[in-house]
Amino acid sequence: MLFSDIADTFAKLESTSSRLEMTSILADFFKGLEPSDLRDIIYLSQGKLHPDFYPVELGMADKMVLRAIASASGFKDDKVEEMWLKEGDTGTVAEKLISGKKQMSLFSQPLTLKSVVSDLTKIETSEGKNSQEAKVKTLSGMLHDSGPTEARYICRIVSGRMRVGASAMTILDALAQCYADKESRPEIERAFNVTCDMGLVGEVLAKDGMEGVRNIQVKVGNPIKVMLAERLPSLGEVIEKMDGRCAMEFKYDGMRAQAHITKDSIKIYSRRLENLTDNFFDVGERLMQNLKGNEAIIEGECVAIDPDTGNMLPFQMVTHRRRKHGLDSAIRDIPVRIFMFDILYLDGKDLTNLPYEERRNILSQAFDMDDMVTLTTMEIVEDETQAESFFDKAIGAKCEGVMAKSLSDASVYRAGSRGFLWIKYKKDYHEALTDTFDLAVVGAFYGMGKRAGKYGALLMAAYDQDTGDFCTVCKLGTGFDDAFLDAMPALLDSTKVKDMPTNVKTGLDPDVWFEPKVVLEVAGADLTLSPNHKAAYGWVKDDAGIGIRFPRYTGRVRDDKSAEQATNVSEIFDMYEMQFSDGL
Ligand code: AMP
Repeated sequence: MLFSDIADTFAKLESTSSRLEMTSILADFFKGLEPSDLRDIIYLSQGKLHPDFYPVELGMADKMVLRAIASASGFKDDKVEEMWLKEGDTGTVAEKLISGKKQMSLFSQPLTLKSVVSDLTKIETSEGKNSQEAKVKTLSGMLHDSGPTEARYICRIVSGRMRVGASAMTILDALAQCYADKESRPEIERAFNVTCDMGLVGEVLAKDGMEGVRNIQVKVGNPIKVMLAERLPSLGEVIEKMDGRCAMEFKYDGMRAQAHITKDSIKIYSRRLENLTDNFFDVGERLMQNLKGNEAIIEGECVAIDPDTGNMLPFQMVTHRRRKHGLDSAIRDIPVRIFMFDILYLDGKDLTNLPYEERRNILSQAFDMDDMVTLTTMEIVEDETQAESFFDKAIGAKCEGVMAKSLSDASVYRAGSRGFLWIKYKKDYHEALTDTFDLAVVGAFYGMGKRAGKYGALLMAAYDQDTGDFCTVCKLGTGFDDAFLDAMPALLDSTKVKDMPTNVKTGLDPDVWFEPKVVLEVAGADLTLSPNHKAAYGWVKDDAGIGIRFPRYTGRVRDDKSAEQATNVSEIFDMYEMQFSDGL
């Protein structure tokens, strides 16, 4: 398969912002592909060679990519760099300069999917003293054989910024359209949610059809998309929604961990499925020791513990464990306890389809519990008074609130979905009008006066799970201290793009656009209709979306969340509606 066909398809995808159009471009392209080629193409469309959780990334520094462009195109380094400063994207630079060179080149060989994957693998795996030079050489060789469009995407892939706009959801739509039907879409998504591997799902679907997809199960080592909770504004409503009876657990203020344990290996993934094994290696070791069986996947909340008093410490303390530098001392000084709340797999059995109570029973017997590995505190509550007193206990123990969990037969572990099988109820709901929001930064406005020369305000967006778009909800300019104002470029500039990303929806026009990557926690006074903001646009009123009034940065960068895990548009809508209910 020629790489130019793939690059042309990426270019078609990039030229549209319509998700329907992208789906049909991809579905057409997927037809008749070899299953293993389809797998590679799916990864490449995301700018990768492997699923997201794979520990090694291509990520070549821009300066190295520029050197390869200079060497392949024959243009001088400073000319290439000058163009890059103007364009802000190595892909565009390569496209422009390689096209200038093309007429002169006589000895190019057409790139194939196989040759591109093999060269990219070489770049990814090259290590040691001369590895940077080797990478530049391999890339330059690929660019030498590229046409302009191929060059654009090769540079984007190696620098880890693909930007063709085809989200995971669009790819799943296209797979359903090409190999199955609309009705099968949820089953295809389930297979993705339990493996986090779109390439694998595509390959199985192309090879074995829906039968194969239905047989895809959770697997030790492949992270599983986490199940999430809905929220309600009062404990009375929580109990009512749970039909009068549910399990209630403390809601701990720590970091979610999904641990994949075998007798001789451990992997710990964060809620956004980053590998945090090294950061929590003490917890990991203890989980391995304490597991009674051979293999398990569990979830729990890692909470920092005061070594003197044994009390739980606030979230900020456990975030020290995310450091790259000084991790050893963080591990020594800040002991952590894992409060386990779910088990998804044990010794050959996928448990995700069992109801909550069965999973909880299995979890409670699967480990020896001690000071580092323990279960969440849980009680069965049957009315509002019992719920209130359990909530008070949780707050007394320095927890954020409670998690209500359904006891119905349908209370399976729903990977990757947010629903009312779990309902969170937090202390903030008591105190303020609304909960905080976790929002993705999609743009910035330059500051004035004291903030001249800095980003003065940020454009913030919620995630629309149905469309894969990031829809703005506020312009955030309050709550920034001097340190944060200074830190903003380092935090955001690697996500800077020239034009509005196709998956961003807003009525505002910031000075700088960002790819949605960085998530910040934002508090707000209330939610209001706004013509400029596009979250839930048209849901309440034809020509308005929902915006946050008086937004304020709380000081928390939610680096444990990916942009897709930002507060979603339907939550914003529910919270808007809640403002008018009796509960608040
Ligand atoms: P939020 O981050 O506000 O959406 O709340 C959901 C998060 O609460 C989960 O992702 C977990 O990290 C955390 N959590 C704390 N305690 C529990 C618990 N008992 N059950 C499930 N999740 C919990």
